[in-house]
Amino acid sequence: MADEGLDVVVIGGGTGGYVAAIRGAQLGLKVAVVESDKLGGTCLHKGCIPSKALLRSAEVLAQTRSAQAFGVIASAVSFDLAAAMERKGNIVLQLHKGVEFLMKKYNVQVFPGYARVMGPSIFSPTAGAVRIQQADGQSQILSPRATIVASGSRPRALPGLAFDGVHVLSSDDALEISQLPASLLIIGGGAIGIEWASMMSDFGVDVTVVEALPRILAAEDADISAEMSRILKKRKIRVLTGARVDPASFKVQGDVCTLEVTTADKSETLTATQILVAVGREANVQDLGLEATGVVVERGVIQVDGSMRTAEKAIYAIGDVVGGLQLAHVAAHEGILAMEAIAGRNPDPLNYDQVPRCTYSRPEVASVGLTEAQARERGHEVKVGRFSFRAIGKALVQGDPDGFVKVVADAVSDDLLGVHILGAHATELISEAGLALVLSASPWEVAQSIHPHPTLSEALGEAVLAVEGLAIHG
Ligand code: FAD
Repeated sequence: MADEGLDVVVIGGGTGGYVAAIRGAQLGLKVAVVESDKLGGTCLHKGCIPSKALLRSAEVLAQTRSAQAFGVIASAVSFDLAAAMERKGNIVLQLHKGVEFLMKKYNVQVFPGYARVMGPSIFSPTAGAVRIQQADGQSQILSPRATIVASGSRPRALPGLAFDGVHVLSSDDALEISQLPASLLIIGGGAIGIEWASMMSDFGVDVTVVEALPRILAAEDADISAEMSRILKKRKIRVLTGARVDPASFKVQGDVCTLEVTTADKSETLTATQILVAVGREANVQDLGLEATGVVVERGVIQVDGSMRTAEKAIYAIGDVVGGLQLAHVAAHEGILAMEAIAGRNPDPLNYDQVPRCTYSRPEVASVGLTEAQARERGHEVKVGRFSFRAIGKALVQGDPDGFVKVVADAVSDDLLGVHILGAHATELISEAGLALVLSASPWEVAQSIHPHPTLSEALGEAVLAVEGLAIHG
Protein backbone atom coordinates (compact mmCIF):
# COMPACT_ATOMS: atom_id res chain seq x y z
CA MET A 1 0.00 0.00 0.00
CA ALA A 2 1.41 3.41 -0.85
CA ASP A 3 0.93 6.47 1.32
CA GLU A 4 0.97 9.54 -0.90
CA GLY A 5 0.13 12.08 1.78
CA LEU A 6 3.42 11.95 3.64
CA ASP A 7 5.84 14.86 3.58
CA VAL A 8 8.84 13.15 5.17
CA VAL A 9 9.91 9.60 6.01
CA VAL A 10 12.71 9.28 8.54
CA ILE A 11 14.69 6.04 8.34
CA GLY A 12 15.75 5.28 11.91
CA GLY A 13 14.15 6.36 15.18
CA GLY A 14 17.35 7.11 17.14
CA THR A 15 18.11 10.51 18.67
CA GLY A 16 18.58 12.11 15.27
CA GLY A 17 15.52 10.48 13.72
CA TYR A 18 12.95 10.99 16.44
CA VAL A 19 14.02 14.58 17.16
CA ALA A 20 13.81 15.35 13.43
CA ALA A 21 10.31 13.84 13.37
CA ILE A 22 9.15 16.03 16.26
CA ARG A 23 10.57 19.18 14.63
CA GLY A 24 8.90 18.22 11.36
CA ALA A 25 5.55 17.84 13.11
CA GLN A 26 6.04 21.21 14.83
CA LEU A 27 6.58 22.72 11.38
CA GLY A 28 3.27 21.26 10.20
CA LEU A 29 4.77 18.44 8.13
CA LYS A 30 3.25 14.97 7.95
CA VAL A 31 6.05 12.73 9.16
CA ALA A 32 6.64 8.99 9.53
CA VAL A 33 9.52 7.18 11.23
CA VAL A 34 10.61 3.68 10.26
CA GLU A 35 12.49 1.83 13.00
CA SER A 36 13.84 -1.71 12.68
CA ASP A 37 14.62 -2.11 16.38
CA LYS A 38 13.58 0.25 19.18
CA LEU A 39 12.71 3.95 19.15
CA GLY A 40 15.53 5.81 20.90
CA GLY A 41 18.32 4.05 18.99
CA THR A 42 21.90 3.67 20.16
CA CYS A 43 21.93 6.58 22.60
CA LEU A 44 18.96 5.33 24.58
CA HIS A 45 19.50 1.57 24.38
CA LYS A 46 23.23 0.97 23.84
CA GLY A 47 24.99 4.28 24.41
CA CYS A 48 24.62 7.50 26.36
CA ILE A 49 21.89 6.57 28.81
CA PRO A 50 22.73 2.98 29.87
CA SER A 51 26.46 3.77 30.09
CA LYS A 52 25.83 6.87 32.20
CA ALA A 53 23.45 4.93 34.47
CA LEU A 54 26.26 2.43 35.16
CA LEU A 55 28.83 5.23 35.52
CA ARG A 56 26.58 6.78 38.16
CA SER A 57 26.54 3.46 40.06
CA ALA A 58 30.34 3.45 39.84
CA GLU A 59 30.49 7.01 41.15
CA VAL A 60 28.18 6.24 44.08
CA LEU A 61 30.32 3.22 44.91
CA ALA A 62 33.52 5.27 44.80
CA GLN A 63 31.96 8.01 46.94
CA THR A 64 30.66 5.50 49.47
CA ARG A 65 34.10 3.94 49.71
CA SER A 66 35.56 7.33 50.52
CA ALA A 67 32.69 8.26 52.87
CA GLN A 68 34.89 8.06 55.96
CA ALA A 69 36.77 11.19 54.87
CA PHE A 70 33.42 13.02 55.20
CA GLY A 71 32.85 11.58 58.66
CA VAL A 72 30.34 9.07 57.34
CA ILE A 73 30.89 5.48 58.39
CA ALA A 74 29.66 3.05 55.74
CA SER A 75 31.02 -0.35 56.65
CA ALA A 76 31.08 -3.50 54.54
CA VAL A 77 30.40 -1.64 51.29
CA SER A 78 29.80 -4.00 48.38
CA PHE A 79 28.52 -3.77 44.83
CA ASP A 80 25.57 -5.61 43.29
CA LEU A 81 25.99 -5.60 39.49
CA ALA A 82 22.53 -7.11 38.92
CA ALA A 83 20.88 -4.26 40.86
CA ALA A 84 22.89 -1.65 38.93
CA MET A 85 21.86 -3.32 35.65
CA GLU A 86 18.22 -3.36 36.75
CA ARG A 87 18.35 0.35 37.60
CA LYS A 88 19.94 1.02 34.19
CA GLY A 89 17.19 -1.03 32.49
CA ASN A 90 14.42 0.85 34.31
CA ILE A 91 15.82 4.25 33.30
CA VAL A 92 16.06 3.13 29.66
CA LEU A 93 12.52 1.73 29.78
CA GLN A 94 11.10 4.94 31.23
CA LEU A 95 12.79 7.09 28.58
CA HIS A 96 11.78 4.65 25.82
CA LYS A 97 8.14 5.04 26.86
CA GLY A 98 8.71 8.80 26.81
CA VAL A 99 9.84 8.70 23.17
CA GLU A 100 6.85 6.51 22.23
CA PHE A 101 4.57 9.02 23.95
CA LEU A 102 6.17 11.93 22.07
CA MET A 103 5.62 10.19 18.72
CA LYS A 104 1.91 9.87 19.56
CA LYS A 105 1.70 13.43 20.91
CA TYR A 106 3.11 14.83 17.66
CA ASN A 107 1.11 12.47 15.43
CA VAL A 108 4.25 10.94 13.99
CA GLN A 109 3.41 7.61 12.35
CA VAL A 110 5.86 4.93 13.50
CA PHE A 111 6.37 1.99 11.15
CA PRO A 112 8.19 -1.00 12.65
CA GLY A 113 10.41 -2.63 10.04
CA TYR A 114 13.55 -2.25 7.98
CA ALA A 115 13.55 0.57 5.42
CA ARG A 116 15.34 0.82 2.09
CA VAL A 117 15.30 3.73 -0.30
CA MET A 118 13.92 2.64 -3.68
CA GLY A 119 15.48 5.35 -5.76
CA PRO A 120 13.53 8.17 -7.37
CA SER A 121 9.90 7.74 -6.45
CA ILE A 122 7.39 6.09 -8.73
CA PHE A 123 4.98 8.84 -7.71
CA SER A 124 7.24 11.85 -7.84
CA PRO A 125 10.48 12.04 -9.82
CA THR A 126 12.17 14.22 -7.19
CA ALA A 127 11.47 12.13 -4.10
CA GLY A 128 12.80 8.83 -2.79
CA ALA A 129 10.19 6.13 -2.26
CA VAL A 130 10.89 3.91 0.74
CA ARG A 131 10.12 0.20 1.04
CA ILE A 132 9.53 -1.14 4.54
CA GLN A 133 10.26 -4.79 5.18
CA GLN A 134 8.27 -5.89 8.24
CA ALA A 135 9.31 -8.71 10.59
CA ASP A 136 6.32 -10.83 9.41
CA GLY A 137 7.61 -10.73 5.82
CA GLN A 138 5.06 -8.15 4.63
CA SER A 139 6.31 -5.07 2.92
CA GLN A 140 4.94 -1.61 2.39
CA ILE A 141 5.91 1.34 0.22
CA LEU A 142 5.83 4.95 1.37
CA SER A 143 6.18 7.79 -1.05
CA PRO A 144 7.12 10.97 0.78
CA ARG A 145 8.22 14.32 -0.59
CA ALA A 146 11.55 13.86 1.19
CA THR A 147 13.44 11.17 3.08
CA ILE A 148 15.87 11.58 5.96
CA VAL A 149 18.36 8.75 6.47
CA ALA A 150 19.14 8.52 10.19
CA SER A 151 20.32 4.92 10.35
CA GLY A 152 23.09 5.53 12.90
CA SER A 153 26.17 3.41 13.49
CA ARG A 154 27.44 0.22 15.09
CA PRO A 155 30.60 -0.73 17.01
CA ARG A 156 33.69 -1.04 14.80
CA ALA A 157 35.55 -4.34 15.18
CA LEU A 158 39.32 -4.52 15.05
CA PRO A 159 40.29 -6.48 11.93
CA GLY A 160 41.32 -9.97 13.03
CA LEU A 161 39.69 -9.65 16.46
CA ALA A 162 35.99 -10.35 15.94
CA PHE A 163 33.48 -9.65 18.69
CA ASP A 164 32.35 -12.91 20.33
CA GLY A 165 30.41 -11.41 23.26
CA VAL A 166 32.35 -13.63 25.68
CA HIS A 167 36.02 -12.75 25.50
CA VAL A 168 36.05 -9.93 22.98
CA LEU A 169 33.30 -7.43 23.73
CA SER A 170 31.82 -4.45 21.94
CA SER A 171 30.32 -1.62 24.00
CA ASP A 172 26.90 -3.20 23.24
CA ASP A 173 28.09 -6.48 24.85
CA ALA A 174 29.70 -4.72 27.80
CA LEU A 175 26.38 -3.08 28.71
CA GLU A 176 24.81 -6.51 29.14
CA ILE A 177 27.43 -8.39 31.21
CA SER A 178 26.05 -10.46 34.08
CA GLN A 179 29.35 -10.79 35.90
CA LEU A 180 32.29 -8.45 36.39
CA PRO A 181 35.55 -9.68 34.88
CA ALA A 182 38.57 -9.86 37.20
CA SER A 183 40.50 -7.85 34.64
CA LEU A 184 39.64 -5.91 31.49
CA LEU A 185 41.85 -4.88 28.61
CA ILE A 186 40.32 -1.90 26.80
CA ILE A 187 41.52 -1.27 23.26
CA GLY A 188 40.89 2.39 22.49
CA GLY A 189 41.44 5.41 24.72
CA GLY A 190 38.71 7.65 23.29
CA ALA A 191 35.62 8.78 25.19
CA ILE A 192 33.95 5.35 25.30
CA GLY A 193 37.17 3.53 26.29
CA ILE A 194 37.97 6.01 29.06
CA GLU A 195 34.42 5.97 30.43
CA TRP A 196 34.57 2.17 30.66
CA ALA A 197 38.05 2.27 32.19
CA SER A 198 36.87 4.66 34.89
CA MET A 199 33.67 2.71 35.57
CA MET A 200 35.19 -0.76 35.68
CA SER A 201 38.05 0.41 37.86
CA ASP A 202 35.52 1.84 40.33
CA PHE A 203 33.76 -1.55 40.25
CA GLY A 204 37.06 -3.15 41.36
CA VAL A 205 38.14 -4.53 37.98
CA ASP A 206 41.85 -4.44 37.12
CA VAL A 207 41.91 -2.23 33.97
CA THR A 208 44.50 -1.68 31.23
CA VAL A 209 43.89 0.80 28.39
CA VAL A 210 45.78 0.46 25.11
CA GLU A 211 45.71 3.46 22.78
CA ALA A 212 47.42 3.52 19.37
CA LEU A 213 47.76 7.32 19.29
CA PRO A 214 50.38 9.11 21.39
CA ARG A 215 47.77 10.14 23.98
CA ILE A 216 44.36 9.16 25.34
CA LEU A 217 41.33 11.38 24.59
CA ALA A 218 43.25 12.51 21.53
CA ALA A 219 40.48 14.85 20.38
CA GLU A 220 40.85 16.87 23.59
CA ASP A 221 43.41 19.55 24.41
CA ALA A 222 46.83 17.97 25.08
CA ASP A 223 46.91 19.35 28.65
CA ILE A 224 43.61 17.61 29.43
CA SER A 225 44.87 14.28 28.01
CA ALA A 226 48.08 14.51 30.03
CA GLU A 227 46.32 15.28 33.31
CA MET A 228 43.68 12.59 32.73
CA SER A 229 46.44 10.05 32.08
CA ARG A 230 48.07 11.05 35.36
CA ILE A 231 44.79 10.72 37.27
CA LEU A 232 44.00 7.32 35.75
CA LYS A 233 47.48 6.08 36.66
CA LYS A 234 46.95 7.37 40.21
CA ARG A 235 43.74 5.30 40.21
CA LYS A 236 45.89 2.22 39.28
CA ILE A 237 44.55 2.07 35.73
CA ARG A 238 47.39 1.10 33.40
CA VAL A 239 47.51 3.29 30.28
CA LEU A 240 49.68 2.35 27.29
CA THR A 241 49.83 4.97 24.54
CA GLY A 242 51.45 4.73 21.10
CA ALA A 243 50.64 1.05 21.53
CA ARG A 244 49.60 -1.37 18.79
CA VAL A 245 47.91 -4.66 19.53
CA ASP A 246 48.54 -7.65 17.28
CA PRO A 247 45.12 -9.30 16.70
CA ALA A 248 46.84 -12.42 15.30
CA SER A 249 48.43 -13.02 18.72
CA PHE A 250 45.03 -13.23 20.48
CA LYS A 251 44.63 -16.44 22.50
CA VAL A 252 42.25 -17.72 25.12
CA GLN A 253 43.92 -19.90 27.73
CA GLY A 254 41.47 -21.18 30.31
CA ASP A 255 39.65 -18.11 31.61
CA VAL A 256 42.27 -15.67 30.43
CA CYS A 257 42.81 -13.88 27.11
CA THR A 258 46.28 -12.91 25.98
CA LEU A 259 47.22 -10.33 23.39
CA GLU A 260 50.56 -8.93 22.30
CA VAL A 261 51.05 -5.21 22.33
CA THR A 262 53.96 -3.20 21.01
CA THR A 263 54.91 0.28 22.19
CA ALA A 264 57.84 2.43 21.04
CA ASP A 265 60.24 0.71 23.42
CA LYS A 266 58.98 -2.84 23.90
CA SER A 267 56.57 -5.67 23.10
CA GLU A 268 54.70 -7.47 25.83
CA THR A 269 51.91 -9.97 26.26
CA LEU A 270 48.92 -8.53 28.09
CA THR A 271 46.49 -10.81 29.90
CA ALA A 272 42.90 -10.08 30.87
CA THR A 273 39.66 -11.91 31.60
CA GLN A 274 37.94 -9.92 28.86
CA ILE A 275 38.80 -7.46 26.12
CA LEU A 276 36.63 -4.46 25.29
CA VAL A 277 37.21 -3.09 21.80
CA ALA A 278 36.32 0.63 21.71
CA VAL A 279 37.98 1.81 18.50
CA GLY A 280 35.13 3.85 17.08
CA ARG A 281 31.88 3.28 15.23
CA GLU A 282 30.99 2.38 11.66
CA ALA A 283 28.15 4.22 9.96
CA ASN A 284 25.17 2.10 8.89
CA VAL A 285 25.35 2.87 5.16
CA GLN A 286 24.96 -0.67 3.81
CA ASP A 287 21.73 -2.28 2.65
CA LEU A 288 19.78 0.98 2.53
CA GLY A 289 19.23 0.91 -1.22
CA LEU A 290 21.46 3.94 -1.67
CA GLU A 291 23.13 2.43 -4.75
CA ALA A 292 19.90 3.09 -6.67
CA THR A 293 20.16 6.80 -5.89
CA GLY A 294 22.62 9.62 -6.43
CA VAL A 295 23.56 9.60 -2.72
CA VAL A 296 27.34 9.70 -2.34
CA VAL A 297 29.04 7.54 0.30
CA GLU A 298 32.69 8.39 0.87
CA ARG A 299 35.08 7.10 3.54
CA GLY A 300 32.16 5.05 4.90
CA VAL A 301 29.78 7.95 5.57
CA ILE A 302 27.01 9.69 3.62
CA GLN A 303 28.10 13.03 2.16
CA VAL A 304 25.81 15.99 2.87
CA ASP A 305 25.80 19.75 2.45
CA GLY A 306 25.19 22.38 5.15
CA SER A 307 21.46 21.64 5.23
CA MET A 308 22.10 17.88 5.55
CA ARG A 309 21.00 17.28 1.97
CA THR A 310 22.69 14.49 0.01
CA ALA A 311 23.56 14.64 -3.69
CA GLU A 312 20.03 13.26 -4.29
CA LYS A 313 17.76 16.30 -4.04
CA ALA A 314 15.01 14.82 -1.87
CA ILE A 315 17.19 12.64 0.38
CA TYR A 316 18.78 14.05 3.52
CA ALA A 317 21.03 12.30 6.04
CA ILE A 318 21.79 13.12 9.68
CA GLY A 319 23.53 11.80 12.78
CA ASP A 320 26.18 9.10 13.03
CA VAL A 321 25.58 8.00 9.42
CA VAL A 322 27.14 11.25 8.15
CA GLY A 323 30.23 10.88 10.36
CA GLY A 324 32.02 13.83 11.96
CA LEU A 325 31.19 14.24 15.64
CA GLN A 326 29.17 11.09 16.36
CA LEU A 327 27.23 12.49 19.30
CA ALA A 328 23.55 12.39 20.24
CA HIS A 329 23.17 16.17 20.53
CA VAL A 330 24.80 16.58 17.09
CA ALA A 331 22.40 14.02 15.58
CA ALA A 332 19.45 15.85 17.17
CA HIS A 333 20.54 19.26 15.88
CA GLU A 334 21.25 17.91 12.41
CA GLY A 335 17.74 16.40 12.46
CA ILE A 336 16.19 19.76 13.32
CA LEU A 337 18.26 21.43 10.61
CA ALA A 338 17.25 18.90 7.95
CA MET A 339 13.54 19.26 8.78
CA GLU A 340 13.77 23.05 8.69
CA ALA A 341 15.46 22.84 5.30
CA ILE A 342 12.72 20.50 4.02
CA ALA A 343 10.11 22.96 5.33
CA GLY A 344 11.82 25.69 3.29
CA ARG A 345 13.19 27.62 6.24
CA ASN A 346 16.79 28.02 4.98
CA PRO A 347 18.48 27.22 8.31
CA ASP A 348 22.10 28.18 8.99
CA PRO A 349 24.51 25.23 8.80
CA LEU A 350 25.58 23.78 12.13
CA ASN A 351 28.82 25.25 13.50
CA TYR A 352 30.67 22.11 14.59
CA ASP A 353 33.27 24.23 16.44
CA GLN A 354 30.53 25.16 18.90
CA VAL A 355 29.49 21.59 19.80
CA PRO A 356 30.35 20.52 23.36
CA ARG A 357 32.16 17.17 23.71
CA CYS A 358 31.87 15.23 26.96
CA THR A 359 33.47 12.20 28.61
CA TYR A 360 31.66 10.99 31.72
CA SER A 361 34.63 9.45 33.49
CA ARG A 362 35.71 10.24 37.06
CA PRO A 363 36.68 13.06 36.84
CA GLU A 364 34.69 14.24 33.85
CA VAL A 365 36.07 15.90 30.73
CA ALA A 366 34.20 18.49 28.69
CA SER A 367 35.23 20.92 26.03
CA VAL A 368 33.88 23.26 23.40
CA GLY A 369 35.67 25.11 20.63
CA LEU A 370 39.30 24.87 19.61
CA THR A 371 42.12 23.21 21.51
CA GLU A 372 45.26 25.30 21.92
CA ALA A 373 46.97 23.30 19.15
CA GLN A 374 44.00 23.66 16.76
CA ALA A 375 43.88 27.40 17.41
CA ARG A 376 47.56 27.74 16.52
CA GLU A 377 47.12 25.51 13.43
CA ARG A 378 44.35 27.84 12.25
CA GLY A 379 46.73 30.78 12.51
CA HIS A 380 45.54 32.37 15.76
CA GLU A 381 47.97 34.08 18.05
CA VAL A 382 46.90 32.40 21.25
CA LYS A 383 46.61 33.43 24.87
CA VAL A 384 45.61 30.94 27.55
CA GLY A 385 44.02 31.16 31.00
CA ARG A 386 44.09 28.22 33.37
CA PHE A 387 42.61 27.69 36.80
CA SER A 388 42.82 24.67 39.08
CA PHE A 389 39.85 23.24 40.98
CA ARG A 390 42.23 22.89 43.94
CA ALA A 391 41.80 26.62 44.60
CA ILE A 392 38.00 26.43 44.39
CA GLY A 393 36.22 26.13 47.75
CA LYS A 394 33.28 24.10 46.40
CA ALA A 395 35.62 21.54 44.82
CA LEU A 396 37.24 20.96 48.22
CA VAL A 397 33.84 20.86 49.95
CA GLN A 398 32.72 18.25 47.45
CA GLY A 399 35.93 16.26 47.85
CA ASP A 400 36.72 16.69 44.12
CA PRO A 401 39.88 18.82 43.88
CA ASP A 402 41.31 17.17 40.73
CA GLY A 403 41.34 19.03 37.44
CA PHE A 404 41.33 22.50 35.95
CA VAL A 405 39.67 24.81 33.44
CA LYS A 406 41.69 25.97 30.45
CA VAL A 407 40.51 28.89 28.30
CA VAL A 408 41.97 29.48 24.83
CA ALA A 409 41.54 32.96 23.34
CA ASP A 410 42.84 34.96 20.39
CA ALA A 411 45.54 37.34 21.59
CA VAL A 412 44.79 39.89 18.86
CA SER A 413 41.00 39.96 18.57
CA ASP A 414 40.35 38.85 22.15
CA ASP A 415 37.84 36.26 20.83
CA LEU A 416 37.12 33.24 22.98
CA LEU A 417 38.24 30.19 20.95
CA GLY A 418 37.84 27.20 23.26
CA VAL A 419 37.18 26.06 26.81
CA HIS A 420 38.46 22.77 28.23
CA ILE A 421 37.40 21.41 31.60
CA LEU A 422 38.68 18.41 33.52
CA GLY A 423 36.94 17.93 36.84
CA ALA A 424 33.78 16.96 38.68
CA HIS A 425 30.62 18.03 36.85
CA ALA A 426 32.65 19.31 33.88
CA THR A 427 29.87 18.06 31.59
CA GLU A 428 27.39 20.39 33.31
CA LEU A 429 29.81 23.33 33.52
CA ILE A 430 30.63 23.33 29.81
CA SER A 431 27.25 24.73 28.71
CA GLU A 432 28.14 28.22 29.96
CA ALA A 433 31.22 28.13 27.73
CA GLY A 434 29.08 26.83 24.84
CA LEU A 435 26.72 29.79 25.23
CA ALA A 436 29.66 32.19 25.41
CA LEU A 437 30.99 30.85 22.09
CA VAL A 438 27.57 31.06 20.41
CA LEU A 439 27.22 34.67 21.61
CA SER A 440 30.82 35.47 20.52
CA ALA A 441 31.67 36.60 24.04
CA SER A 442 35.25 37.50 24.90
CA PRO A 443 36.83 36.00 28.04
CA TRP A 444 36.43 39.42 29.72
CA GLU A 445 32.68 39.39 28.92
CA VAL A 446 32.32 35.91 30.42
CA ALA A 447 34.01 37.25 33.56
CA GLN A 448 31.33 39.98 33.80
CA SER A 449 28.75 37.27 34.45
CA ILE A 450 28.97 36.86 38.22
CA HIS A 451 29.68 33.27 39.26
CA PRO A 452 27.97 32.44 42.54
CA HIS A 453 30.07 31.42 45.52
CA PRO A 454 30.76 28.71 46.42
CA THR A 455 30.26 26.85 43.14
CA LEU A 456 32.41 24.85 40.75
CA SER A 457 31.50 27.42 38.08
CA GLU A 458 33.88 29.85 39.77
CA ALA A 459 36.72 27.90 38.14
CA LEU A 460 35.52 29.10 34.72
CA GLY A 461 35.05 32.64 36.10
CA GLU A 462 38.67 32.59 37.32
CA ALA A 463 40.06 30.91 34.16
CA VAL A 464 38.63 33.63 31.90
CA LEU A 465 40.23 36.26 34.17
CA ALA A 466 43.47 34.26 34.08
CA VAL A 467 43.65 34.88 30.32
CA GLU A 468 44.74 38.46 31.25
CA GLY A 469 46.62 37.37 34.39
CA LEU A 470 43.76 38.71 36.54
CA ALA A 471 42.54 35.59 38.38
CA ILE A 472 41.80 36.51 41.96
CA HIS A 473 42.63 33.25 43.72
CA GLY A 474 45.48 32.07 41.54
P1 FAD B 1 21.26 5.85 16.29
O1 FAD B 1 21.00 6.31 17.66
O2 FAD B 1 22.25 4.75 16.10
O3 FAD B 1 19.86 5.42 15.69
C1 FAD B 1 19.73 4.81 14.44
C2 FAD B 1 18.45 4.00 14.45
O4 FAD B 1 18.17 3.61 13.13
C3 FAD B 1 18.54 2.72 15.27
O5 FAD B 1 17.48 2.69 16.19
C4 FAD B 1 18.45 1.61 14.24
O6 FAD B 1 17.76 0.48 14.72
C5 FAD B 1 17.66 2.28 13.13
N1 FAD B 1 17.91 1.77 11.78
C6 FAD B 1 19.10 1.57 11.17
N2 FAD B 1 18.92 1.19 9.90
C7 FAD B 1 17.57 1.13 9.70
C8 FAD B 1 16.76 0.81 8.58
N3 FAD B 1 17.31 0.50 7.40
N4 FAD B 1 15.42 0.84 8.73
C9 FAD B 1 14.86 1.19 9.92
N5 FAD B 1 15.58 1.51 11.01
C10 FAD B 1 16.92 1.50 10.89
N6 FAD B 1 26.66 10.52 22.46
C11 FAD B 1 26.53 11.61 23.26
O7 FAD B 1 26.18 12.68 22.76
N7 FAD B 1 26.77 11.53 24.61
C12 FAD B 1 27.16 10.38 25.19
O8 FAD B 1 27.37 10.34 26.40
C13 FAD B 1 27.31 9.22 24.38
N8 FAD B 1 27.68 8.05 24.94
C14 FAD B 1 27.78 6.95 24.15
C15 FAD B 1 28.17 5.76 24.75
C16 FAD B 1 28.27 4.62 23.99
C17 FAD B 1 28.69 3.33 24.64
C18 FAD B 1 27.97 4.67 22.59
C19 FAD B 1 28.04 3.44 21.76
C20 FAD B 1 27.58 5.84 22.00
C21 FAD B 1 27.50 7.00 22.76
N9 FAD B 1 27.13 8.23 22.20
C22 FAD B 1 27.03 9.34 22.99
C23 FAD B 1 26.87 8.37 20.75
C24 FAD B 1 25.37 8.42 20.48
O9 FAD B 1 24.77 7.25 20.98
C25 FAD B 1 25.15 8.52 18.97
O10 FAD B 1 25.87 9.62 18.47
C26 FAD B 1 23.67 8.72 18.64
O11 FAD B 1 22.92 7.63 19.10
C27 FAD B 1 23.49 8.88 17.13
O12 FAD B 1 22.14 9.01 16.84
P2 FAD B 1 21.57 8.61 15.41
O13 FAD B 1 20.14 8.99 15.42
O14 FAD B 1 22.44 9.11 14.35
O15 FAD B 1 21.73 7.01 15.34
